[in-house]
Amino acid sequence: MATKVIAVANQKGGVGKTTTAVNLAACVAAQGRRVLLLDLDPQANATSGVGLEKEPGGSAYGPLLGQGSLTEKIKRTPFERLDAIPSEMDLCGADVELIRAEQHLHRLALALEPIQAANHYQVVLIDCPPSLAVLTLNAFAAADGLVVPLQCEYYALEGISSLTRIINQLRDTGVNPRLHLFGVVMTMFDARTNLSKQVEGEVRQHFGSIVFDTVIPRTTRLAEAPSFGKPIIHYDKYSAGAAAYEVLAQEFCERLGI
Ligand code: ADP
Ligand code: MG
Repeated sequence: MATKVIAVANQKGGVGKTTTAVNLAACVAAQGRRVLLLDLDPQANATSGVGLEKEPGGSAYGPLLGQGSLTEKIKRTPFERLDAIPSEMDLCGADVELIRAEQHLHRLALALEPIQAANHYQVVLIDCPPSLAVLTLNAFAAADGLVVPLQCEYYALEGISSLTRIINQLRDTGVNPRLHLFGVVMTMFDARTNLSKQVEGEVRQHFGSIVFDTVIPRTTRLAEAPSFGKPIIHYDKYSAGAAAYEVLAQEFCERLGI
């Protein structure tokens, strides 16, 4: 089966995109699939989260603008079956420069084609920046589906209507006829508060079965792990955060058919 591409996206910052991209990627790899994590956020948190360095010229930036191939940018991580394409600051300029490029929405899809054709990876997971600018739209144009993390707090659904509008636009205009909301994952759930339960209820009512059954708890271990350059299952295997992302990964693989 062909390599699937899933983008982890939400234009809001701080909702758990990077934490979900890194830990989902690590758990899916630990469960026996070959995974490529593509860091598209200039902040490069997913890059350091899997123990890689930012290196000048090491990101997707060049290939997006037609310089070199994306395959050359792939790095092994210290974790079995998990490879990554790092980010670095040069991606900051990509939004502006891509607008001037031909087929500016399809640059990433085109760059990913050889990687998908090689069929080495079962899934490519893209960590998107917190915006709906051109870099994110490139991820949307390349993706088979989106995973949207929502933080269990007031305003969790804020901005969701612009996100769904863009999905529909990209699909209806033929930019990406496959694009759909593949899954919603509730993050930073605090079992001690009614608010978390209320928000979870509202989100499930709004999205139905698109919401993953697994809810990610708020735990300091998940916030600490990146400073050690490790996904949670390699930092604290028996923690609640590790257990949650392991179950989420099972649900994810089942839904994706990998
Ligand atoms: P985004 O990529 O959407 O900006 P991050 O994944 O970077 O969001 O998360 C924002 C902050 O919240 C980070 O400091 C991260 O470590 C922390 N965080 C994310 N998920 C959790 C969680 N489940 N429990 C505790 N802290 C979390
Ligand atoms: Mg992030």
